[in-house]
Amino acid sequence: MNLCNLTEIRQLMEKHGIAPRKSFGQNFLVNASIPEEIADTSAYTAPLFARENADSVRVLEIGPGIGALTRELAARYPAVTAVEIDDGLIPVLGETLADCENVRVIHADFMKTDARALISEITDGGSVHVCANLPYYITTPILTALLDAYRPDGSSPITRITLLVQREFADRVCAEAGDRDYSATSVLLALHGCARRAFTVSAGNFYPVPKVESAVLLIDTYPGGLRDLYPDCPTGEAFAPYYAKLTAVIDTAFVMRRKALPNALSSLFPKEKTEAALTALGIRTDIRGEKLTPLDFCRLTAELAK
Ligand code: SAM
Repeated sequence: MNLCNLTEIRQLMEKHGIAPRKSFGQNFLVNASIPEEIADTSAYTAPLFARENADSVRVLEIGPGIGALTRELAARYPAVTAVEIDDGLIPVLGETLADCENVRVIHADFMKTDARALISEITDGGSVHVCANLPYYITTPILTALLDAYRPDGSSPITRITLLVQREFADRVCAEAGDRDYSATSVLLALHGCARRAFTVSAGNFYPVPKVESAVLLIDTYPGGLRDLYPDCPTGEAFAPYYAKLTAVIDTAFVMRRKALPNALSSLFPKEKTEAALTALGIRTDIRGEKLTPLDFCRLTAELAK
């Protein structure tokens, strides 16, 4: 069966008494070359950073839908774990993935799953790729949950994340300091790795047709975690509290992105403290958060903690 053929998708759904659910952000791919290209991008694009044991990498898919991308992943990886929230799709997946022995489907809301525990179970000490055509309304919380699933030393068991997302989201997370689209998510992502836009996907490739264009975002994480960007970052038990403070500073700085940083961060630190920290780093005290590079945020947080 062709899981990207619109007529066959409709027949399959009718047989199981279901229809696409807007509340779960369901837009299914109806052009078979797209899941193939996404799976190729995830499995075969040369990694930006050298890693060991590339052949034993497992893959986690969030939101398999009726299984079109899942089957392509199963053909390229030794094992696939797919987490699907919609109970109506579980029997459908039982049918469409019946011949894929290396696929395990978990019926769960990924946002309520302990991502760190799930990933550690999947990887069995190795590493994992995440690949998904995500519902647009939860792209940011899912990406944040994946980036936050770091090991105690700050490195990530997730070596690559390949996501089909809204095109504007891809532009936003790839933006750099000073760009119009630069955001808290751009900074968060740059703390963990490098993001690139692999290719765009027009709205006509989905059923139902969404109102927005999409793009495939490819993220390779740093092998050594945040230390690769900021070698002075606290290590051991000091890492997690430092990281929590860093993300709070970034989020707060972008809530009022057009305000001078000492004002924007005043709910976290007295203005004078932020001014002194910026001066110690040789940064103007009237700078806005949107002008700070990810490394500046790391250094500022360390200075504020003194
Ligand atoms: N992978 C399929 C494809 O490419 O055709 C479907 C993609 S569709 C855009 C998003 C999928 O994510 C749907 O199957 C939806 O039910 C599922 N989903 C939505 N929210 C979810 C959540 N919190 N946890 C797990 N799956 C979720």
